[in-house]
Amino acid sequence: MTSSLTIPDPTILSVSITERGKVNGNKLPYEHFHCKMAEAVRREWQRVDGFVLFCSVGIAVRLVGPLLGSKATDPAVVTVDEAGRFVVPICGGHRGGNNLARDVAGILGAEAVVTTATDGAGITALDTLPGFHASGDIAAITRRLVDGQRPAVVSTLEWPVPEWNADADTEPNEDAFIVVTDQQVPPAPGQVVLNPPSLVVGVGASSDAPATEADRLLRRVLAQAGLSERSVSVVATIDRRANDPVVTSLDLPVVSFTAEQLATVEVPNPSDVVMSEVGTASVAEAAALLAAGPGAELIVEKQKASAATVAIARRAVPQGSVSVVGLGPGAVEMRTPQAVTAIRSADVVIGYTYYVDQVDDLCAAHHEVIRSPIGSEVDRCVEALRRAAAGQRVALVCSGDPGVFAMATLVLERAPEFGNPPVDVVGGVTASLASAAILGAPLAHDHAMISLSDLLTPWEHIVRRVTAVAEADMAVAFYNPKSQRRVTQLDEAITILSKHRPGTTPVAVVVNATREGERTFLSTLDTFDASVVDMFSLVVVGSSTTQIINGRMVTPRGYGD
Ligand code: SAH
Repeated sequence: MTSSLTIPDPTILSVSITERGKVNGNKLPYEHFHCKMAEAVRREWQRVDGFVLFCSVGIAVRLVGPLLGSKATDPAVVTVDEAGRFVVPICGGHRGGNNLARDVAGILGAEAVVTTATDGAGITALDTLPGFHASGDIAAITRRLVDGQRPAVVSTLEWPVPEWNADADTEPNEDAFIVVTDQQVPPAPGQVVLNPPSLVVGVGASSDAPATEADRLLRRVLAQAGLSERSVSVVATIDRRANDPVVTSLDLPVVSFTAEQLATVEVPNPSDVVMSEVGTASVAEAAALLAAGPGAELIVEKQKASAATVAIARRAVPQGSVSVVGLGPGAVEMRTPQAVTAIRSADVVIGYTYYVDQVDDLCAAHHEVIRSPIGSEVDRCVEALRRAAAGQRVALVCSGDPGVFAMATLVLERAPEFGNPPVDVVGGVTASLASAAILGAPLAHDHAMISLSDLLTPWEHIVRRVTAVAEADMAVAFYNPKSQRRVTQLDEAITILSKHRPGTTPVAVVVNATREGERTFLSTLDTFDASVVDMFSLVVVGSSTTQIINGRMVTPRGYGD
């Protein structure tokens, strides 16, 4: 099963007026103006999704006030004080302003001063609940939630909804109303409607179907059936149509299946013509049902336009998934935006305590956070998959890259036992690359990464690989060089390398790369001292051509002169 999802990048602009603001602005990964702030903000107001203004809150409020229109369309605005100590979102908090402030604070080492009520009270905000679309009187209901009232939640689906009862003794308050539904229900005054991502549209089309055909048909079908388009979370089709404009123009994530997969699904309206043409008696109905998962119900049977068909299925449970997320070596700046998105949009964050702490800034009230002890990798993986199978979106966090001596393999191997929930591997900056950048360019030519942990690999195999690398004269990065119980392996590996390259070959140890307490030690194969190495260290041994230039470790790329 394949799926794809595109999320447009927001346009963020930072503006400074002082020299110090300029220095801080240049540290951020956004477009940056150093100029007359008022002019720039007025000129760019319509274009950008967010501003980072290096000025006092007072200046920003005066500047932005006259420009404010609607909460739904105004850009987010955050300010950073002159000393770079505080980042204050002043508007658009739930349009990304709070997260923008947290991102900026992370990079500048400042504190995000988030003042939206739900965040302060640790309450799940209605308008940022991942996967759900909120409309109606969000402000009124939020006020009640913040004041500790329990809302009456009415749901037309048996889906789990967040529990907003901070105080279980309070009776549900009948006039604080939240309606969870995928039907077209206009919110009454004092009401919030939450549309869950419960609907899947199946699309069949001929190869020459006009781009707008399915879109028009879908709108008509939804209106007739009284369903909300905000609940349509995915479009499902046959593999050969997955990239056709008629499907992609729906602007939804696409899931596609082979004809063989579709042919296994029982549908109310099979077609002999379709069977003889593509090898399955149904595309729209079968794809919708298949993508909507176990227990799904076909709530709109196949409807036809001249070149396309659509059908709509409703999921019995939410679509669970596992994102195996690499957090990079430690520094917030080295965490990818993709990792940040995966964690923010998860229901559950699970990982070894130390890594979960590393994403504290990304966790909000809607997250369930599970800290597991080191070593219990299998338990962690099973827990993640079990919850995904039950409909939760799980972010399983690892350090560095999840595919480098980490959890991605285990999750992919065990997923079939749990009905194959979607597994997403979110890459990260691995320790060897972060360390190499700190050291200079020691891995600039062919190199190897070897884990010296013999927990999962017999030591003879590791010796064979170290010997091969030694003979091949490649630079090498040793992961897991040492632990409290494993202390001899590193010396043995160094001895093997010493037999094949000069005693003057540079060796570097990087402890806690990009984390607090980062340290580096340079030595050579002859003078190497393993006592500085611990389990938070990476050891890089150069090839015979590696040199130290101005204190940096450099492996020439071997392009002659
Ligand atoms: N998935 C991780 C590796 C996990 S194995 C990655 O891609 O980086 C754990 C080993 O990685 C540690 O024993 C250490 O050798 C190395 N490591 C991870 N983060 C490190 C860091 N910030 N500094 C130095 N070494 C690190």
